[in-house]
This record gives sequence, C-alpha cells and structure tokens, in this order.
Amino acid sequence: MQAKGYAVLAASKPLVPFNFERRELRATDVALEIQYAGICHSDIHQAREEWGPAIFPMVPGHEIAGVVTEVGTGVTKFKVGDRIGVGVFIDSCRKCPSCTAGLEQYCLEGMTGTYNGYERDGKTVAQGGYSNLFVVDQDYAVTVPANLDMAGVAPLLCAGITLYSPLKNWGAGKGKKVGVIGLGGLGHMGVKFSVALGAHTTVFSHSPSKEADAKAMGAHEFVVTKDVANLEALSKDYDLILNTVSADLDLTPYLNLLKLDGTLVLIGLPGKPYEVSTPSLLAQRRSLAGSMIGGIAQTQEMLNFCGEHNIVSDVEVIEPSYINEAYERTVASDVKYRFVIDAAKF
Ligand code: NAP
Ligand code: ZN
Ligand code: ZN
Repeated sequence: MQAKGYAVLAASKPLVPFNFERRELRATDVALEIQYAGICHSDIHQAREEWGPAIFPMVPGHEIAGVVTEVGTGVTKFKVGDRIGVGVFIDSCRKCPSCTAGLEQYCLEGMTGTYNGYERDGKTVAQGGYSNLFVVDQDYAVTVPANLDMAGVAPLLCAGITLYSPLKNWGAGKGKKVGVIGLGGLGHMGVKFSVALGAHTTVFSHSPSKEADAKAMGAHEFVVTKDVANLEALSKDYDLILNTVSADLDLTPYLNLLKLDGTLVLIGLPGKPYEVSTPSLLAQRRSLAGSMIGGIAQTQEMLNFCGEHNIVSDVEVIEPSYINEAYERTVASDVKYRFVIDAAKF
C-alpha cells in the first residue's frame, strides 16, 4: 500500500518528504494509521551513520503509536479501532532461546529492526514510523491502555521500555538507590519509572537548567555533572546507575559511586567505545553491564504499568517539516523531553 513520510536520502542529509510502498497485509498482519511517532536519538545516530554504514533512503522512527485500520484474515490479537504501539523491532526468528523466552530483542539470529535493516526475507528494506501508516505482524505490536494520551505514549515504545527493562532486571524499588545519567528522552522515562517503583532516584545531568523539571518528575536529587567534584562529593552507595548519555562520557566517576556489587548499565550508544577503569570495578566488586530495549511481553507490561500509574512521556509535538530542526535541538539536549511528530500532518 502507498505510504507517505519523511526520509533521509543519504547519510547526514536533511530529511525530506518521501512516498513509498508498504507491503499488503499478510494473514497475521495489521495495518495502522500512525498518530504519533517519536524522535529517538538512535534515529539521529543512524541517519548520520554514526553506527556504521546504513541503508538509504531511510524512513526512521521506532516509537510508533496509532490505531488499527485493517486486520489480516488470521489476526486474533487486535481488531479495527484498537490503539496499538510498535517499537524498535518488527520481527525475530521466533524459535531461538531468546525469542522463546520473550526476549526477542536478543534474538540469536538478530532482531528485525523497524528500519535501517532488511525484513526476514533478506531483501525488503524495512521503513520506520515517520510516516502516515504502518504494517506489522500482530505478534510485534502491543496494546495501549485507554487512559493514556497517544502523543505521550509514542516514546514509551523505545525510550520507555529501554529504561523500564533494566530497572526491573536489576531490582529497582523501595530501599534501592538509583541514578540516571542524562535527562533526555530515555533518561526522563527512567526517572519516572524509578520513582514509581519506589527507588531513591538521582538525576546526573550536564544541564543545570533541567533541575526543576527533574524534581517535578519526582527525582529526589539532581547533580550537575559539569564539575566532577560534585560527583566525588557524593556517598558511594548507589545500587544501580543507568547511563543514557548519547555522547562520549568518562564512566569512572559513576563507577566510583556504586556500592559493593552495584551495577552501572550502559544504555546510551555513542559511536565511540568507552574506556573502563579496572581499579574502579575491582574495588567494590562492581559490575558494568549493558541493556537493550525490552521484549514484547515486557513492553506490554510496561504499558500496563504506565496505564496504572498514569505515566507518559513529556513531549513537544511537532509537524514533519520541523524534523530537521528537532534533530539539531535533540543533539543540543534542548528538548522537553521528546519530540513527537504529528503523523496526521504527513
Ligand atoms: P537524548 O534525548 O538526546 O538524551 C541524551 C541526554 O544525554 C541528553 O538529554 C543530555 O542530558 C545527555 N547528554 C547529551 N550530550 C551530552 C554530553 N556531551 N555530555 C554529557 N551528557 C550529555 O537521547 P535519547 O533518545 O534519550 O538516547 C540516548 C542514547 O541512548 C542514544 O545514544 C541512543 O542511541 C541510545 N539508545 C539506546 C537504546 C538501548 O536499547 N540501549 C535504546 C534507545 C536509545 P542532560 O542534558 O541531562 O545532561
Ligand atoms: Zn530508540
Ligand atoms: Zn530468535
């Protein structure tokens, strides 16, 4: 079917209006009218080839919220009119140990990304959510709770699950001390979830102007990281620190804030590898870990949690023509706290 959206035609070029084909519905597919698509920093990394060679033309976007308009003959999970979401992947092998455990993002054959990759036929280029419509297999879409605002929901499909998953995995909750580095799209969701789970939550930010917002989101402490002395002055009693920074960062001061057996989880994915201080790891048997989005079942769990706790992303809704400026402002950490494209305007 004929779709319209915005695409990057070559690395680092501005996004421009773009018409393209989506596949006709297979038996287990649903079609959705996209209402909102979030702008994730990963879109920018890929549009600018900061993660290596990419596929162009590229329609980015993997934070998709919309309404089902058509269902295939074998669809049982959704019906026309349902509010659904699609995130960072649209398929996986469905049979490896990761897939059968509901951890499709760690599929041993590799998950099928929502864009900048090929579908499982190995030749169809997947195109993402900066577009008016989408087609996806029912098993790779999730249900949006009725009480949540769709613009604020879109970022939950990547930013939300990407922070919810490590918070759950490493047991954030009452009596735990959690730090979130970077109050951006991912980071602000991390703060909301950490607070809702009952953990003592600190924001580490290089933007002093974000303090009031962080506190309004429920953060208990806000530490300005521009001066490393501010970090060194803190007590070394963090259970878990989540690094969501999109740029290179010296991890050592954060490792040093972890208590015995504490964990620093890498979530931000700048192109350049980090340096790791071995003494900082050894000293308190600390761990350095990574975490990537979350599986379909946990994404649904996260959305249900959001429904119960009335959590959505703080968004700036924009028209498609503003995407290029939104990219610049995201890179400059100047967004409160996620740009979301009004897909009715494509
Ligand atoms: P974002 O909205 O741009 O937020 C990144 C935040 O990092 C900024 O708001 C800023 O927070 C901080 N920051 C930026 N530049 C910095 C610098 N030079 N020094 C120190 N802090 C800086 O980006 P995002 O969409 O949240 O994504 C963050 C990263 O996570 C990206 O690299 C993205 O590709 C990656 N990501 C990973 C996964 C995964 O599954 N692991 C999923 C999605 C995205 P302050 O202003 O508060 O300092
Ligand atoms: Zn993302
Ligand atoms: Zn698999």
